[in-house]
Amino acid sequence: MLDRVLSPRRARQFQRLIRNGKITLLCLFLTVIVLRGNLGAGKFGTPEKDLDEIRETFSYIRRRSEPRRVLEEAENVQKSSSASDSMEKGSNNYAEFDIRKILKDEDDGIEEFKRDLSQPYSLGPKISDWDQQRGEWLKNNPNFPNFIAPNKPRVLLVTGSSPKPCENPVGDHYLLKSIKNKIDYCRLHGIEIFYNMALLDAEMAGFWAKLPLIRKLLLSHPEVEFLWWMDSDAMFTDMVFEVPWERYKDHNFVMHGWNEMVYDQKNWIGLNTGSFLLRNCQWSLDILDTWAPMGPKGKIREEAGKLLTRELKDRPVFEADDQSAMVYILATQKDKWGGKVYLENAYYLHGYWGILVDRYEEMIENYHPGLGDHRWPLVTHFVGCKPCGKFGDYPVERCLKQMDRAFNMGDNQILQMYGFTHKTLASRRVKRTRNETSNPLEVQDEHGLLHPPFKAVKVSSS
Ligand code: UDP
Ligand code: MN
Repeated sequence: MLDRVLSPRRARQFQRLIRNGKITLLCLFLTVIVLRGNLGAGKFGTPEKDLDEIRETFSYIRRRSEPRRVLEEAENVQKSSSASDSMEKGSNNYAEFDIRKILKDEDDGIEEFKRDLSQPYSLGPKISDWDQQRGEWLKNNPNFPNFIAPNKPRVLLVTGSSPKPCENPVGDHYLLKSIKNKIDYCRLHGIEIFYNMALLDAEMAGFWAKLPLIRKLLLSHPEVEFLWWMDSDAMFTDMVFEVPWERYKDHNFVMHGWNEMVYDQKNWIGLNTGSFLLRNCQWSLDILDTWAPMGPKGKIREEAGKLLTRELKDRPVFEADDQSAMVYILATQKDKWGGKVYLENAYYLHGYWGILVDRYEEMIENYHPGLGDHRWPLVTHFVGCKPCGKFGDYPVERCLKQMDRAFNMGDNQILQMYGFTHKTLASRRVKRTRNETSNPLEVQDEHGLLHPPFKAVKVSSS
């Protein structure tokens, strides 16, 4: 066609020009591709996005003055990953990422283990000689004694939360505060800690999840004398108070509660199962077996809920919960279990938050940690707040505000050892309580928590 318009010579020149132009364009295209790859910006995104990312990459490098090696490493990682999975990679903005993307296959159709529904639910194979089995194990393993000092049993504090992230954006932050709080208490008191996030038995979801877990841990850790279950919504507000272990030497199950309310009134809040002590022995396996049958979710739990609401005082209508079930068992089978159950109310093994949190200032004014009771509660439990859920029984603002205050109440006793305190009970920020010194070993912490007697190791003299 060109031949018709131009002379043959001119047409050839023109074709050469186009060929050269093609090569130039190809080179330009390749340069852009290489540049985009090196900057980690080319993810087939929009031009604006690319520009933002380029800007971000440069500002990132400008902001940081890290050794070159670190930058090179980062670059290499970027190069290799962008080569292989650039198609898979999305935005690196966490705030915009929809977590459901990676959780999506969790909810739809979990392969649940289906048991034989004609058989009653059981926590596991029947064990009747646990005291003997455990006794032998302890004899054969003298390096794992069940008492770490006279009147100081080896204790495992067990707590946990759902395998999934919380159903609201701040829930996990409060779970973190809560486990930090428990780690602090346990470190000071020589208590081991276990955090569970696995649903060991799909039928026992929710507040019943603790039962299979507790049984498993008792059987796997014969060296543990007492297991201390504590809800994730309960926090230590007294870091100094040591549980009076000696008091429970003839008991197997310690809960906060009142004998009259449980045995006489059958009141569903006569005891609380958010914080309790359970001895590792046959008796405990037996009461777990008695406790579990109302737990399986679905029809069993629904029907059991109706029975509990009918039989217990003031219980609202809802599915069976572990606490009501325990009240029911104790009230109806007192002779069988009552003798080994200690309902404690001389201090707050569990303390209902509603009656405590508004009195913290008054407590600070008049008392000191170490009392554990109404003057300075060992535990503040945010019953009904459901900080990890979507809906609770109380206004969210009150729950979260008070959980912060409870956390800070406990945390002040930790910070105090190091010369700090929260500015107020409501404040995340801290201030100094004393000057730094060049003789750090001479400073005394107020409550003797740096080296508390209940944590001291007895060194043998041999
Ligand atoms: N929990 C758990 N896994 C779950 C759900 C709950 O381990 O999937 C635990 C968690 O520690 C929680 C406790 O069960 O604190 C009981 O629930 P909650 O505290 O909400 O009940 P409340 O004390 O309000 O009656
Ligand atoms: Mn709770």
